[in-house]
Amino acid sequence: MSEALPLVAILLLTRPGFEPDLLAELKAWLSARDVLIEPSLHGEGTVFLRGSTGQLQAIWQRWRDWRLESVFTREFIGVIAELPAVPRGARVEALLEVMQNSPVPVSELHVYAPDGDQTRPLLPMTSALQNNLQAKITLSPDAYQHQLHAVFLSSEQAIVGISHAQKSAPFPGGIARLKFPPAAPSRSTLKLDEAFLALLSHSERARWLERGMSAVDLGACPGGWSYQLVRRGIRVTAIDNGAIADSLMRSGMVVHERSDGFRYRPKKMVDWMVCDMVEKPAKVAELALQWILEKRSRFCMVNLKLPMKKRFAELQKCQAMAQAALGNSLVWRCKQLYHDREEVTVHVRRLWAAVGGRRDER
Ligand code: SAM
Repeated sequence: MSEALPLVAILLLTRPGFEPDLLAELKAWLSARDVLIEPSLHGEGTVFLRGSTGQLQAIWQRWRDWRLESVFTREFIGVIAELPAVPRGARVEALLEVMQNSPVPVSELHVYAPDGDQTRPLLPMTSALQNNLQAKITLSPDAYQHQLHAVFLSSEQAIVGISHAQKSAPFPGGIARLKFPPAAPSRSTLKLDEAFLALLSHSERARWLERGMSAVDLGACPGGWSYQLVRRGIRVTAIDNGAIADSLMRSGMVVHERSDGFRYRPKKMVDWMVCDMVEKPAKVAELALQWILEKRSRFCMVNLKLPMKKRFAELQKCQAMAQAALGNSLVWRCKQLYHDREEVTVHVRRLWAAVGGRRDER
């Protein structure tokens, strides 16, 4: 990633209420890389990194992959202009002046406000602006790597910035507007749907969510996660003492077993273990590691319910435990997804693992 953008700041968006967690995470990230700048909280869900151009460039270039780099970052934007007083009657003109001079060709334009009680009322205005500007900005579909963002922090204050496909969320602003499937038994279904989109690459989804594969869903009821697997043609063993939706059982793709998810063992290795049981994060992380180490499954997607305090520290503990168990073969992608509340979702597997008779690439 060698592009040098004329950055004046970096804007990071997070889930409102999780700003202290993002700050703790950023401080650890910056100090591990000897970048001596302090992240600053701007408002609900909004954090800025400000420093010299060299420092900002260093961060931009060393931030490699959105799926690996940060748990609490919903969106990562290199700011090319800060507009502290956008005139109400001339917003289009003010934004166009900056946007037409984008330092790189862009494939998409996104105009929005961060998610939050104070900024939500701005959404009708930003969506009207999006429509208006879309017709006036030259987009290059081939430049799929970069997207242009105008983010309104208040009705008069905006930033214009660039995101990079690998560094930023697959959904503008990190807001995954997924359609709730009416046949799904619970709203939790959107968590697993988003996890597959956000934590796996396009080619990983094509290879690892194939029809005819097998999965175990621990803590499955009423069946929102199982529904996502079944709709992809994957057979599911659903483990839970609760009641599972009849519609899922009628699909013929689900076996429901009333057992303890911490004790259940599949008779032979399955492709996926997914888990949404409400338990301490370390206990669920340990379970996922057992499944991988003992070759009960090739891949895991697990939800970790966060404690009230020191949430980033707790996740660091879980990741350190995983590192100790799997060493350099560990793949650990952990994110607070848009549909996650006081929780995060982790994709765990082995890198280059000779599992299921074939070697899997990252
Ligand atoms: N993912 C589900 C969905 O999309 O419908 C929702 C799961 S709900 C948050 C948690 C489930 O875990 C509950 O149905 C509960 O009965 C189950 N559970 C909790 N502890 C469990 C255990 N030790 N073994 C099996 N199931 C457990």
